[in-house]
Amino acid sequence: MAFLDQNPGLGYPAAAALGLALGSFLNVVILRLPRRLEWQWRRDSREVLGEPEIYDPPPPGIVVEPSHCPHCKHKLSWYENIPVFSWLVLRGKCRHCHAPISAQYPLVEFATMLLVLACVWQFGFGWRGFGAVLFTCFLVSLAGIDLRTRLLPDQLTLPLLWLGLIASVENLFVGQKAALLGVMAGYFSLWSVYWVFKQLTGKEGMGYGDFKLLAAIGAWVGLKGILPTILISSVVGAVVGSIWLYTKGRDRSTQIPFGPYLAIAGWIAFFWSDALIDGYLHLAGLQR
Ligand SMILES: [Zn+2]
Repeated sequence: MAFLDQNPGLGYPAAAALGLALGSFLNVVILRLPRRLEWQWRRDSREVLGEPEIYDPPPPGIVVEPSHCPHCKHKLSWYENIPVFSWLVLRGKCRHCHAPISAQYPLVEFATMLLVLACVWQFGFGWRGFGAVLFTCFLVSLAGIDLRTRLLPDQLTLPLLWLGLIASVENLFVGQKAALLGVMAGYFSLWSVYWVFKQLTGKEGMGYGDFKLLAAIGAWVGLKGILPTILISSVVGAVVGSIWLYTKGRDRSTQIPFGPYLAIAGWIAFFWSDALIDGYLHLAGLQR
């Protein structure tokens, strides 16, 4: 690790390659984890309801099963599975059946590469860089899954929360006290908004997954990062949400996932909460 720190000419290309590979893995998580969960919920429901066992084979696992074309099931060879490049060379079509391949694949791979580069640029190639990459990977998969399925699985939000608390024991990004207060502030701020909104309108504006995600982000950004996270996610959410409603022309009750905004805002706060707070105090004419 120290070697990469001293040789950025090797370190950054290595980080870019790692980012592409991680992005490719995150694509699989985004697509397969919700299907796996839904399959498990169906099975559990049948058991609770006392319904007879039916033939319901499990969907592909996340690690074991090789990648294949979702249309014709053609197994991808290694040169069809190179992040970003394969999609560009194949012009977004399966080589076998010419069915279009979603642009989600190269987009997630490319975005993950940029985010991983930002992590090592800001935090170096040591434990802090590793922690930042881990945090980033969880946020990318949660944002992707929420966009596709409106789910924020406990299987991701809760480990993210624990990992943040564990990192705080070593004071990697924030101290223990800040992390614990960040978790509490993250959970209860959104929970109280949800509760007030529900009392006033009788509707549920967001889900428990949103509270858990902001609680998990709180473990990484600490108490001082929670307010910037909420502010940024509200602004980004309001702007993107308005554009969404305008272009798609749906009515206002359309449920828009909030998780991706929390993820984007949490990532920004993780990197720049000090700069943001200083900037705000400066604008407000206050000094620290
Ligand atoms: Zn195909």
